[in-house]
Amino acid sequence: MSDFFNVEALTGLGYILASVLFIFGLKQLSSPNSAIRGNLTSACGMLLAVLVTLLDTGILDYRWIGLGLALGALIGLVIALRVQMTGMPQLVALFNGFGGVASLLLGAVEFAPMQVQGPDGAVVVAIALAVLIGGITFSGSLIAFGKLAEILPGRPLLFPGQQAFNVLLLLAALGLLIVMPLGLWEGQRVELLIGLVGIALLLGILAVIPIGGADMPVVISLLNSYSGLAACAAGFVILNKVLIVAGALVGAAGLILTGIMCKAMNRSLANVLFSGFGAGADSGGAGATSGGEVKALSIEDAWYLLEAARSVVVIPGYGMAVAQAQHAVRELGELLEANGAEVRYGIHPVAGRMPGHMNVLLAEANVDYDRLAEPQDINPIMETVDLCIVIGANDVVNPDARSNESSPIYGMPVLEADRARTVFVLKRSMASGFSGIDNPLFYAENTRMIFGDAKDVVSALVAEFKGSE
Ligand code: NDP
Repeated sequence: MSDFFNVEALTGLGYILASVLFIFGLKQLSSPNSAIRGNLTSACGMLLAVLVTLLDTGILDYRWIGLGLALGALIGLVIALRVQMTGMPQLVALFNGFGGVASLLLGAVEFAPMQVQGPDGAVVVAIALAVLIGGITFSGSLIAFGKLAEILPGRPLLFPGQQAFNVLLLLAALGLLIVMPLGLWEGQRVELLIGLVGIALLLGILAVIPIGGADMPVVISLLNSYSGLAACAAGFVILNKVLIVAGALVGAAGLILTGIMCKAMNRSLANVLFSGFGAGADSGGAGATSGGEVKALSIEDAWYLLEAARSVVVIPGYGMAVAQAQHAVRELGELLEANGAEVRYGIHPVAGRMPGHMNVLLAEANVDYDRLAEPQDINPIMETVDLCIVIGANDVVNPDARSNESSPIYGMPVLEADRARTVFVLKRSMASGFSGIDNPLFYAENTRMIFGDAKDVVSALVAEFKGSE
């Protein structure tokens, strides 16, 4: 019985409980209805894991740990309070990078030459993997952050022989992964470590710079997976069970998410990583588009069509996030329903700039989750829809994806807004979306453009509705 209360047993029990909380948290994240609870569940798991780790009898001095905890918590709090919803992808990129560098540092310390007795071969394999994957994750994430925050150019940066050079770097890294565990050049542990860290950092940079800004969310999801794998390797280095479990969960979840995003864009991971998608276009989306007649509509005229519509599909995109128009959109939806229309929301898996972006925003505005429909559910009934309102979406409603074989997004499943009887497109200008390509929907016979900031336009439509009551 007394064994049950010893620190080691308590630690083991705490780690198992923390792991269970992580798994339940992940499960709850699979639906927007339970996602907030899922986040809290996982956070409780992490708190438990941290508290239990602090019981470790091997800790000699709590002062540095306390300082680190206080500083980390303060920085995290400030960032969480200040970050805009549209800035989340770059924040996630930074978090991944920090996770990667933590694993790298842990591996480096365990391999450092001040450890008189070098670790045995199997542990060195784990150390080398933690350093290699952690380093790639760190520098790759910083580049992804720079591209998303527009500190670095969003377009793919390619140079001749880039992929061959990357292969050489990978081979060098593999060489070190063999040399280090075999204990060769035992006297040169510092040099080996510096070599591996250098290669890892360079690989991270060179792997991410050829990828365009539009594909950065996929890269971030992949780097998230890498940060989990690095943490898992670090867990094997210090034989920490919860780190192994949490790392494996993050690694697997990141890979699954990457797969889902690639599928939604109808592209392979290899195409995302190596094709330099967007190299020919300004993926920042400033480019004006090609010819055709554009029919602009005033708010008053738009209201007549809205008032008469009996079935409405709202398709939100990145512009709704930028304008923070979700609350006004919910209000418009309620007014349309009160007016007798059936209102649904067409949600594309890659609308916005991160997975689930639109679901999160609409949930925040209390839009009923049952009203949300995915492309495969909404497209078959699109011809029966009186009015499709596209709010700040562009690429996810581009008909070229279905009909123009020369389009870079040909084959990507899209929301077929153009098949509705009438289409409203709310955006500020004729600028292209994040993929930087033209959208023929804007020139279609049944499309009316309502130019302006999404929140201003939707609020004006709401005011027009209210004024008519
Ligand atoms: P897009 O980037 O295609 O288009 C957004 C549109 O919003 C722009 O054309 C812009 O036009 C408009 N806009 C911007 N600000 C405002 C504003 N304040 N008010 C009104 N309109 C505004 O967005 P989509 O959501 O359609 O597509 C997402 C893109 O991101 C896809 O290419 C997708 O592949 C890519 N992507 C997304 C991922 C994800 O996880 N969500 C992952 C990987 C890639 P204007 O400037 O004229 O207003």
